[in-house]
Amino acid sequence: MSGVLLREVNTGDQRELEAKGLFYGIGHSPNSQLLDGQVQLDVLGYVLVEEGTSRTSVDGVFAAGDVQDHEWRQAVTAAGSGCIAALSVERYLTSNNLLVEFHQPVTEEVKKELTDRDVQEGFDISRTKHRGQYALRKLYHESPRLVCVLYTSPTCGPCRTLKPILGKVIDEFDQNVHFVEIDIEEDPEIAEAAGIMGTPCVQFFKNKDMLQIVSGVKMKKEYREFIEENK
Ligand SMILES: Cc1cc2nc3c(=O)[nH]c(=O)nc-3n(C[C@H](O)[C@H](O)[C@H](O)COP(=O)(O)OP(=O)(O)OC[C@H]3O[C@@H](n4cnc5c(N)ncnc54)[C@H](O)[C@@H]3O)c2cc1C
Repeated sequence: MSGVLLREVNTGDQRELEAKGLFYGIGHSPNSQLLDGQVQLDVLGYVLVEEGTSRTSVDGVFAAGDVQDHEWRQAVTAAGSGCIAALSVERYLTSNNLLVEFHQPVTEEVKKELTDRDVQEGFDISRTKHRGQYALRKLYHESPRLVCVLYTSPTCGPCRTLKPILGKVIDEFDQNVHFVEIDIEEDPEIAEAAGIMGTPCVQFFKNKDMLQIVSGVKMKKEYREFIEENK
């Protein structure tokens, strides 16, 4: 950034303030309207918790972070109270016989010895995230998982936006999907074979069938929902 455009609300006058960074001050009103009438709040809108705990006025509802802390409001105190709340929830569920364990389904992986070429290319099918055309070819033929291929190029701005978004979604499905990034400048022939016209572009394959093409940058939940349905 090079500056901030300021508008005087009374006169409408505008001026530019040169600045290299912007630090938002968001005020001190807790964003707790949705809880009003559901759990007890104090006069300023903070959730009331029993001192030294994360227990609210409602049994089984626990509060953590700034929304219940009118004094410290720091990242580390919020994180600490988040831990207290999480452990309290776990205890509550256990003591009320409500805890249900959920296990990720384990996909049957083809257990093969790594070939010399695999070692040379740094390819290991047991890993979730990969890069480059060698990995894509191997996964296309051998992976029993849903394969998510992200085509990027070094000069593509939206690719830089999409990579962390998709990376986090893939992490949620670790060991249940395979992910490959193809830089279309490094691997032009595979991009051409895949019919990639622009970046970023995501293709999903399973058992050598292409299930979906998603061009551009979409909301995290769109990728998540597709993977959830097809993994
Ligand atoms: C400008 C600024 C600078 C800061 N600097 C520091 C610092 O240097 N060191 C430090 O320790 N702390 C700092 N803090 C404080 C720190 O950011 C907070 O204490 C911390 O983020 C609180 O974490 P939290 O999870 O309780 O709340 P938040 O981080 O505020 O998270 C609450 C989340 O709930 C979401 N949300 C709100 N309403 C709804 C709704 N109805 N439905 C769904 N989601 C909703 C919000 O979008 C938000 O993502 C700073 C805060 C600000 C504003």
